Amino acid sequence: MEPECGFNTGLLHGRTARGYGQREILPPISQVTAFCYENMEELEKVFAHKSMGYAYTRIGNPTLAAFEQKINELEGGIGAISCSSGMSAISSALLSICQSGDEIIAGRGLYGGTIDLFRDLEKLGIHTVFADVLDGASVRRLTTEKTRAVFGEVISNPSLNVLDIREVAEAAHEAEVPLIVDSTTATPYITRPFIYGADIVIHSTSKYINGGGNAIGGIIVDSGRFKWDFEKHTALAGHKKFGKMAFLLRLRTDLWENLGGCMAPMNAFLSYTGLDTLGLRMEKICANADALAHALEKEKDIKVNYLTLPSHPYHSYVESQLGGYGGGILTISAGSKERAFKIINLLKYALIASNIGDMRTLVIHPASTLYIHSDAEETRAAGVYDDTIRVSLGIEDAEDIIEDFTSAVRESR
Ligand code: PLP
Repeated sequence: MEPECGFNTGLLHGRTARGYGQREILPPISQVTAFCYENMEELEKVFAHKSMGYAYTRIGNPTLAAFEQKINELEGGIGAISCSSGMSAISSALLSICQSGDEIIAGRGLYGGTIDLFRDLEKLGIHTVFADVLDGASVRRLTTEKTRAVFGEVISNPSLNVLDIREVAEAAHEAEVPLIVDSTTATPYITRPFIYGADIVIHSTSKYINGGGNAIGGIIVDSGRFKWDFEKHTALAGHKKFGKMAFLLRLRTDLWENLGGCMAPMNAFLSYTGLDTLGLRMEKICANADALAHALEKEKDIKVNYLTLPSHPYHSYVESQLGGYGGGILTISAGSKERAFKIINLLKYALIASNIGDMRTLVIHPASTLYIHSDAEETRAAGVYDDTIRVSLGIEDAEDIIEDFTSAVRESR
């Protein structure tokens, strides 16, 4: 699983970074709805999976395939499926595994959209039990005979709780269910969850993987290591004959195809080219976040929450699981909502926008935006208070960003 070359070299020259039809150095954008054939027999074979080929973009497309292969190589999986958004990836993966009557165990401090999805799944008879802290003990305590999956975020957005992947994977496997992780905020640069025992990795590629803020997307990668028990995971029973490919084939030929959540070819291209610079961007983004956190820590009337600060409760994971990095998000407790707004409005460079992972620094007041529809308990569990500011660091020059934030903090007094 360990790459033979460095991360950036692997990204640009890896196994899957070649071999497009006309020797292009990037995958061509197959911006088509359908593919045509010389005769009906050929198309019949494609539909019957008797010959390789594409028929219709919602079912498969070479630009999507190039992007999928590249992320799959990066994560070390057996295959990947790209989706129209991160939420499409999360919902497709869960619906492929769970059906009415089944249960999911999840951590409480998840991204608000995922919490909303779990609420929607309740209406389909899929129940989620939440752990305040998702760890081995809580997974063991909450497991029932109905449990079919454990779901967590590697670094939660914006609470910045870190999932102990090894420990939670162990507990999930004792319960004979897969651990599905949303690794959007960690990115494959900071950690590769399969190394620690996760079974399925999901990314919202709209964030760091794309990086340019120009394409919504999501991806699901399967490690191929989970041993499905088809008596237990009856949702996959029809795909038993595919063995370790059962989950990917259930997804590709059922749920993903039928829910219609494919990635647009242009978005696959933009995400593919964005991914090429992931290593460079993450290096700079994490350095900027670390520098800003340390600078803001000196301002006595605010509080900063960032993983590389020794005061952070999950600080030890920076070395043990995150390759020495703290990621691109930090939060500031400004003291009051009014002051939080004041600081945000005073910023010169940071853009007020509802996104993370852009190469531009972005800032938002989550309580009045992302969590406006969540109840008080969900909001607190996400580490969001009335005075919280979320900052998603970009690749600007650190001095400018530090100056921007420290001036705004001081002027807001
Ligand atoms: N997962 C995390 C951690 C996120 O932050 C987000 C979006 O902010 C999503 C999933 C959903 O991704 P998308 O907006 O691409 O649907």
